[in-house]
Amino acid sequence: MLKKSSGSKFIGAHVSAAGGVDQAPLRAKEIGANAFALFTKNQRQWAAKPLEEKTIRAFKANCQMLGYQSQHILPHDSYLINLGAPEEEKLNKSREAFIDEMQRCQQLGLSLLNFHPGSHLKKISEQECLSKIAESINLAHQAVPDVIAVIENTAGQGTNLGWKFEHLAEIIEQVEDKERVGVCLDTCHTFAAGYDLRSFDACEETFAEFERVVGMHYLRAMHINDSKSLLGSKVDRHHALGKGEIGWDCFEYIAKDARFDGIPLILETIEPDIWKDEIAQLRRFHLESTTQSA
Ligand SMILES: [Zn+2]
Ligand SMILES: [Zn+2]
Repeated sequence: MLKKSSGSKFIGAHVSAAGGVDQAPLRAKEIGANAFALFTKNQRQWAAKPLEEKTIRAFKANCQMLGYQSQHILPHDSYLINLGAPEEEKLNKSREAFIDEMQRCQQLGLSLLNFHPGSHLKKISEQECLSKIAESINLAHQAVPDVIAVIENTAGQGTNLGWKFEHLAEIIEQVEDKERVGVCLDTCHTFAAGYDLRSFDACEETFAEFERVVGMHYLRAMHINDSKSLLGSKVDRHHALGKGEIGWDCFEYIAKDARFDGIPLILETIEPDIWKDEIAQLRRFHLESTTQSA
């Protein structure tokens, strides 16, 4: 049974940080979001200029002015980083870059960092790759206090790990500081990885499986995306809500279920022009669950 939501829902989108990270909260406000995601540097480059003091101040001031709290802001790391890289050089480069990302989060007063776990590139076993990822998290924890490493589940495209809930559990198992590790479930990735979400019943089953294998208490965020690709296709193609293979039932379920209260629910859907409408629809569903009698 759906556990009816009585708390608050924090819904937003991955907004652009063009012109400076301090612009992101302003863009989130424009679409009616009370949560948001952003890149704190160019996601396709290794190196980045350190954040300027005035940008940091402006970011914090804008968040405060508009009411965004750190637990509802979900920075995403660079796509180049592979924390499970088989080769020493690439692994070290990735670990350095990840620590830099964590430091940027800390400078901005942010408590979460969302990242894709890593790929074995067919050069090492899944087990070895998962251990490298966990060790990378441990090293980052040692280097940077406070920030929580939020592992995103993947669609399982190519040699990416983290598509099976068991992968996530195995990484968490090897992380020393369990208080500072969490999971971000992306609905598109979950579905493409083979977990059905097309009805309330399917959602019940999939989240029960997540509870059994990983534990809902590790869920720190969600990416709310429909999927162009089929169930179990292992292909990562986002779609606008209700227009893909998953359909509205899943998003209604998440909006109405209490287990998704209090965490950032972030759209990465493909039509930014309708983010405002998608957020509004999710809010209507949530409102129904808090006003309807049981
Ligand atoms: Zn995602
Ligand atoms: Zn994706």
